[in-house]
Amino acid sequence: MSTIFDESRLGRRGSELRATKTTAPAGFASSELRHELAWPELSEPQVVRHFVRLSRLNHAIDVGFYPLGSCTMKYNPKINEEMARLPGFASLHPLQPEETVQGALQVMWELQRDLAEITGMDQVSLQPAAGAQGEQTGILMIKAYHRSRQDLQRTEVLIPDAAHGTNPATASLAGFDVVEVASDSRGGVDLDALKAKLGPKTAAVMLTNPSTLGIFEDNIVEIARLTHQAGGLLYYDGANLNAILGKCRPGDTGFDVVHVNLHKTFSTPHGGGGPGSGPVGVKKHLAPFLPAPTVGRDQNGFHLVAGGPDSIGRVRSFHGNFGMHLRAYTYIRSLGKDGLSAVAEDAVLNANYLLHLIKDRVTVPYQRLAKHEFVVGLPRSIKDKTGVRTLDVAKRLLDFGVHSPTVYFPLIVDEAMMIEPTETESKETLEAFAAILAQVLTEAVNDPEMVKTAPHTTPVRRLDEARAARQPELRYRPR
Ligand SMILES: *Cc1c(COP(=O)(O)O)cnc(C)c1O
Repeated sequence: MSTIFDESRLGRRGSELRATKTTAPAGFASSELRHELAWPELSEPQVVRHFVRLSRLNHAIDVGFYPLGSCTMKYNPKINEEMARLPGFASLHPLQPEETVQGALQVMWELQRDLAEITGMDQVSLQPAAGAQGEQTGILMIKAYHRSRQDLQRTEVLIPDAAHGTNPATASLAGFDVVEVASDSRGGVDLDALKAKLGPKTAAVMLTNPSTLGIFEDNIVEIARLTHQAGGLLYYDGANLNAILGKCRPGDTGFDVVHVNLHKTFSTPHGGGGPGSGPVGVKKHLAPFLPAPTVGRDQNGFHLVAGGPDSIGRVRSFHGNFGMHLRAYTYIRSLGKDGLSAVAEDAVLNANYLLHLIKDRVTVPYQRLAKHEFVVGLPRSIKDKTGVRTLDVAKRLLDFGVHSPTVYFPLIVDEAMMIEPTETESKETLEAFAAILAQVLTEAVNDPEMVKTAPHTTPVRRLDEARAARQPELRYRPR
């Protein structure tokens, strides 16, 4: 593919820069200042075409359907961007004196309060910069809590086998032993398995509810009772609240700590891995352990409040990803309580409608009401007869201009496809996707080679995904 460097021609210009005298910044010798930089020289249309071309190499929610289960690729309303670009917010500096940033602190204070209200928690910190970092913050607070009580034998974190991979990663990074808890035949936590593993070593149980299978854990109150009886705390992985917004609060069902992903539920961009935002909320007994500073309010206005002696300290520079706080705040305030409840209703309705449209073409391991997402499998008959696998189906879907669902997760479903349509898609889009999936599954039987060699129309074909992640080539190298 040609790059802007290849297209560069000496003296070609898009705009004229005024000549300025450059002096070396303090601490640098003038000999260290470079006078010749190998910038490409291009006209404005070349630059515009370059970036538009780049933007079209990837699928995006602003381009088409993106049912990537667990990741919640919902449409991000443009009003969020408008608010984040208001100069009074966009040009702030995090080290400005408090009295000059009262509006920004008020947004953070109100967002802390809104998230506490939505999740049923007492206090919130906006610092963590991702769901995984929210988890780590939450588990470190649980660790600090047990330590503060001299309860030092609690070395285990119990996690269901359907959990997101970040849960065991978090627990083990925080120094705990991970104990897996089996799911029962209905896709929930197996209560007998849980009872057998709870005990004096239990520091916490980490749960996602609805689980990554898209199933609401109807034994949650009993699970909370058993966990607390054993002396453990209950952690809520709230990466995705889509199904329960305005309907059910983790705090009311017995959870002690929760993290939420603003970049999933609250329509802030995922942005190719960042900037994310994963605020944590806690019940009163864990409030002293929250990362600091948080934002507080008194008669003189809004302030950054330093932590007490038990705070686990700072987990992120400055105040977290403020631009994301602003977008999520805009989303919450533009929808209001009724709007947020409608999000949950539409997310669940869309998931169940799509499941209904495709259920005869796939295997449905758990015949239950789906919440915001559901998991199905590729029929064994297709796999055995043709050798086509879920990965092939996922790749072939790309040829039709839609993103594929999440595949091979959760691990307990054979040839899994995890589908999350989100509330922002229309009935027509869901029906179009169901038709595309049906076409690909028919093709898998009639023309398996077509599916196994897909994708055929994307800018790149099948990648070595491990190498692409581990050894990315991010630098231009002249040929
Ligand atoms: C996305 C997700 C996470 C991790 O969030 P990141 O922001 O990607 O670190 C954790 N748990 C669940 C259930 C998720 O879907």
